Amino acid sequence: DEKKPDKWVFSTCGYCGVGCGLYIGVKDGKAIHTKGNPKHNVNMGTLCPKGLSEHDMLNSPDRITSPLIKKEGVLSASSWDETYTKVADEFKRISKEHGAKAIGVIGTGQLLTEEFYTLGKFVQLGLGTNNYDGNTTLCMASAVMGYKQSLGSDGPVGSYEDFTHADTIFLIGANIADNHPILTLHLNKNKKPNKKVIVIDPRASKTSQMADLFVPIKPRTDLALYNGLAYIIMEQGWEDEGYVKANTNGYKELKKHLQNYPPQEVSNITGIDVKTLYELAREFSAQDAVLSAWTMGVNQSFMGTDTVSAIINLHLLTGQIGREGAGPFSITGQCNAMGTRETGFTSSLPGYRNFGDEAALQEYAALVNVPEEIIPRERGYKYAEIIDAIDRGEIKALWIVATNPLVSFVNQEKLRSTLAKLDLLVVQDAFMSDTAEIADIVFSAATWGEKEGVYTNSERRCNRANKAVEPLGDSKSDFDIILEFSKQFDGVNEMLFNGWEKPIDAFNEWKKVSKGQLCDYSGITYELLEQEGGIQWPCNEERPLGTKRLYSADIAFTTKDAKANLICADWFPMAEPISPAFPALLNTGRTVEQWHTRTKTRSIDILNDLAPEAWVDINPEDADVLKVKSGDRMAVSSARGRVEDVVVRVTQSVRAGNIFIPFHFNTELVNTLTNDSFCPKSGEPNFKQTAIQLHSA
Ligand code: SF4
Repeated sequence: DEKKPDKWVFSTCGYCGVGCGLYIGVKDGKAIHTKGNPKHNVNMGTLCPKGLSEHDMLNSPDRITSPLIKKEGVLSASSWDETYTKVADEFKRISKEHGAKAIGVIGTGQLLTEEFYTLGKFVQLGLGTNNYDGNTTLCMASAVMGYKQSLGSDGPVGSYEDFTHADTIFLIGANIADNHPILTLHLNKNKKPNKKVIVIDPRASKTSQMADLFVPIKPRTDLALYNGLAYIIMEQGWEDEGYVKANTNGYKELKKHLQNYPPQEVSNITGIDVKTLYELAREFSAQDAVLSAWTMGVNQSFMGTDTVSAIINLHLLTGQIGREGAGPFSITGQCNAMGTRETGFTSSLPGYRNFGDEAALQEYAALVNVPEEIIPRERGYKYAEIIDAIDRGEIKALWIVATNPLVSFVNQEKLRSTLAKLDLLVVQDAFMSDTAEIADIVFSAATWGEKEGVYTNSERRCNRANKAVEPLGDSKSDFDIILEFSKQFDGVNEMLFNGWEKPIDAFNEWKKVSKGQLCDYSGITYELLEQEGGIQWPCNEERPLGTKRLYSADIAFTTKDAKANLICADWFPMAEPISPAFPALLNTGRTVEQWHTRTKTRSIDILNDLAPEAWVDINPEDADVLKVKSGDRMAVSSARGRVEDVVVRVTQSVRAGNIFIPFHFNTELVNTLTNDSFCPKSGEPNFKQTAIQLHSA
């Protein structure tokens, strides 16, 4: 009975973008258990190790339990009033002396949708700065921009159900067994016994072990591969001519462009033999339903946006989109990266309204009753551009919400020296992160399980997250912090949040704002979300139980002529080529037991027992040259820094000349090594290939 909860609270996992339904077990006001929701159709009662131990992070010793102000170099507990006033005074001074755009804000995919909407509205319309972006630019920005340039709008196309219905699933740069573990359940062959799973990845992973065919591609040659497959589809007449004519623009231009990607040339670039190239291309026309799912291996690239579009090209050419089991499918990293994309104020205005679309801007202003002049006409700086603007002295204050760039961003040494130039660094977080440690002021935030709202997962499913316990100590929900802080600025709270008290107030406005948009939430209620186990937008009067997939017969592309764009994109060699000084390539990624920069997971015993430290995967050939074996320690250096004392795992999973190190650990800080090359369209960093040198210890 000691371990028996008094009650079970319906909620959703707050880690990854799979969006598993769960219950939080509460006893005497404390969360003591987590269990999967057997009726939830995402996870059917199962959870991965992180979900199963999620309640343990609530009482982590790393929690911040009161607001903090740095006094004589030490962060010291303070009152909320003093903390709000101090930050507001400094924001007002900076704004007066340097303009409002001298304030930058970096948010996160960890907040609830109601919180994103409130934060974005406050930052853009209240503080008056459009230099606002999220850590979502480190993971999903290339998918966003790829969807936009190909289909007219952001928005994942299909459903997890499509994994079950597909005849062939391509998993591209997506190690879902580690990163989206519960999604692997949807690869089952119950409905399609002949289903083929094809994994395309430079590294053999737990996911490739589940594949019917593993295609080990040379690192960062993926765009050439998809152009090559499109070439073959056109050469062989494997297109769906009727679909292409009725639904796309740019066929002739693409055909001409692809003359640079004949099979032998693509084989030379990618290391995939010509016969296999034809087999892969054939899948798109030979099968009824083909699904291509990708994640960071594609997005985190200096060609990320165009690589996404090159994948979408294949689906448009063959009509493999908008049908059961068919479509391009971006798998989202964080629990609510989708929420920030939809509610906007980063890559678009709320409801996927484009910056620069005057009619859309006026519509939004009228809906929320604010003057049009205060709405930004253009996007401000993206994440990396905000960092550069700090470096130039243009941005003087930075407010970071629930993200930890001092582990997660590239080129750490440069970042650390750049952040030191700020007049003011404010960090809002539930955990004493590496970034919070160097902050001038900390807003102590509540976290998952202590607050309520909605998360939207990779398949556009909006899920309900409930409050199970009170926020720890004197911490407050991000929603409450933003609302209270906004009262420090004359007239802002009254103009933007008049009468708002609870997340439902933000949700109701968001429903109004999203009505009629692709991401229409107008038919969603909190009650319906619990009753149905989540709802996939668009959900409105015509679609009261949501929508399984976009761009089927009754949902047109959101371009001007309702046709999708076939995109001509070129492949380029490596952003940072190997050299005699740095002759090998580093790839980074994740492991199932840890979450991002470990602020949430580092004090959970079971997870740390399973994954206590970083490691380096190294091919036996390289291990022989270095004279290291599994269990030894080694160092890795790049043009930017060095990581010492990483434990060695000798494995065939990486090719000779390539290594892999997970990025979670601040002790073996792999982003000390990574370079700052970015996708010019999305601003997403090229985390995946860094030229390095290996050193035996
Ligand atoms: Fe949570 Fe993702 Fe694990 Fe599901 S798969 S339990 S959403 S971390």
